Amino acid sequence: MQTNLFIDGAFVPGGGEALPVLDPATGSEIVAVNEATPGQVDAAVAAASAAFDRFSRTTPSERASLLLKMADTLERNSLELAEIESLDVGKPWPSAHDDEMPLTIDTFRFFAGAARTMTGPVAGEYVSGHTSMIRREAVGPVAAITPWNYPLMMAAWKIAAAIAAGCTIVLKPSEITPLSTLKVAELFADILPKGVFNVVHGRGATIGDRLMNAPQIEAIAVTGSPATGMAAMRAASQQIRHVHLELGGKAPVIVFDDADVDAVARTIRYGSFFNAGQDCAQPCRIMVQDGVYDAFVAATAREVGEIRIGAQKAEGTQMGPVVSAVQVDRVAGFVERARRSCEVVVGGERGEGQGFFYKPTVIANVDNDAEIATNEVFGPVVTISRFSDADEALSIANAGRYGLASSVWTRDVGRAMDVTSRLRYGFTWVNTHGVATPEMPWSAMKGSGTGCDMSIHALDAYTSVRHVMVSHG
Ligand code: NAD
Repeated sequence: MQTNLFIDGAFVPGGGEALPVLDPATGSEIVAVNEATPGQVDAAVAAASAAFDRFSRTTPSERASLLLKMADTLERNSLELAEIESLDVGKPWPSAHDDEMPLTIDTFRFFAGAARTMTGPVAGEYVSGHTSMIRREAVGPVAAITPWNYPLMMAAWKIAAAIAAGCTIVLKPSEITPLSTLKVAELFADILPKGVFNVVHGRGATIGDRLMNAPQIEAIAVTGSPATGMAAMRAASQQIRHVHLELGGKAPVIVFDDADVDAVARTIRYGSFFNAGQDCAQPCRIMVQDGVYDAFVAATAREVGEIRIGAQKAEGTQMGPVVSAVQVDRVAGFVERARRSCEVVVGGERGEGQGFFYKPTVIANVDNDAEIATNEVFGPVVTISRFSDADEALSIANAGRYGLASSVWTRDVGRAMDVTSRLRYGFTWVNTHGVATPEMPWSAMKGSGTGCDMSIHALDAYTSVRHVMVSHG
C-alpha cells in the first residue's frame, strides 16, 4: 500500500507525525501515513510552479492523450482502487467498484475531450488597424483539497479538469482517507511529467492551510465543508487568486400529491443511504404534500427498514459504517436532539460492534425550521416534513444557506418546470435524484460554493481569459 507523499515525480516519506488510517467497520488501524512537513508542502508547490511554464504550453491534444492514459490505468487497476477505497471509507464493496469506478474513469475520458474545446475565439478588428484575439489559458499551479466521503472521485474531478486546462496541481486528500489518492499518484507517476501532479498528506488546519497560502498557488479548489471553504476564501484574498468551492448541501426532495410515492420511497432507500448518507447531494430533507404524507411515511419506513448494514465485504451488505468515531457521534447527537420534538420512525441508534455503524434512520413530523431539517447531518438520516402548496415548498426549500442538489417529484410537467425554475439550487432532478454524468455540471449556489465540477464549465476555475491585440502598423 502506497503511504509516501508524491513530490516532483518522486515518492518520499512524510517527515511529520504518523496519522493512523482506520477501517471504519472495525475501528482498527489499516496503516499509518506520515504527515508532510511544512517544508515538504513548500517543495511540492515549488515543483508544481516549476513544471507550470512547460506544462501549460502543451497542446490540448497532448493533454488529451495524457488524460486518456490516466483513464486507462485507472480502469486496469479499478479492482485494487475500489478495494482501497472501500476499506478506507467503509463503502460496501459493490458500490465502491460498480458505482464509483465507472464515473471516476469516465471523468478522465470526458476531460480528454473537453481539453480540446479550450479554444479562444479569434475576434476581429474592434479598433481599426488592430486585430484582437482572445486566448484562454491555464491559470497557474492549483491547490486542490478533497474530502473523505468520495476521496477518489473528488480527486478525479479536480485532477482531470486541472490537467485538461494545462494546470499543475498539489493535492491534499483528507487526512483520514488518503490511501486511494496516494495510489493514484503511483499510477500516474509514469504518465505525467515531473512536478505536474503532487500529493501531500496531513491535517487541514496545518498542512491544508500551508498549501492554500503558498505564494505560487494561483487557484484554490476545495471540496469540503463550508468552514474550509471560508478558510480558502480568506487564503485567496491574501493575494487575489481563483477560488472554486464545492461545499455542503441539504438537498430538499419536494414530493407533490401526484407523485409516484413508491418510486420516491425506493429512491430514498437507495439514494439517501448510499455511502451511508455521507453525500453532499444526499436526498435528505424530504418535504411531502399533505395528501400523500401518511402514505409516503409508511412506504419510506418499509423500504428503509429493509436496508442491511454490515462490513464492506460481508455477504448482503447494503450500507456500511460512517467514516469515523467523530462522525458517528455527530450523527447520534443530531438524532438525539431531534427526538425531543420529532418522531423517529426507523433506526435512531448505533449499530452493533466496534465499528462506526449507525442504523438507517427516518425521522417524521419534522418542523421545517428544526435543526435536523436545516443543518447538514452527513449521515444515514432523512427527515420528512409537510407542505401544502408549491409556494410554501419553494419558500421552505429556498430559505436555507445551502444551494447544491434538489429534486422535484410530480407527474405534472408544467409544475415541474415552474418549481425547478424557482429553486435556488445548483442542480435539480425531476422524478429522480442523484444521477450524475461528466458532461453535466455539478454546480453550487449560495452557501454550497462557487463554480462547478464536471462539464466544460469546470474549466473556468482553472483558466483565465486573455486579450491579445496586434497592431497592423
Ligand atoms: P472538511 O472541510 O472537514 O475537510 C475537507 C478537506 O479540507 C480535508 O482535506 C481537510 O483536511 C481540509 N481542511 C480542513 N480545514 C482546512 C483548513 N483550515 N485549511 C485547509 N484545508 C482544510 O470536510 P469533510 O468533513 O472532509 O467532508 C465533508 C464535507 O464535504 C461536507 O460538508 C460535504 O457536503 C462536503 N462535500 C461537498 C461536495 C460537493 O461536491 N459539493 C462533495 C463531497 C463532500
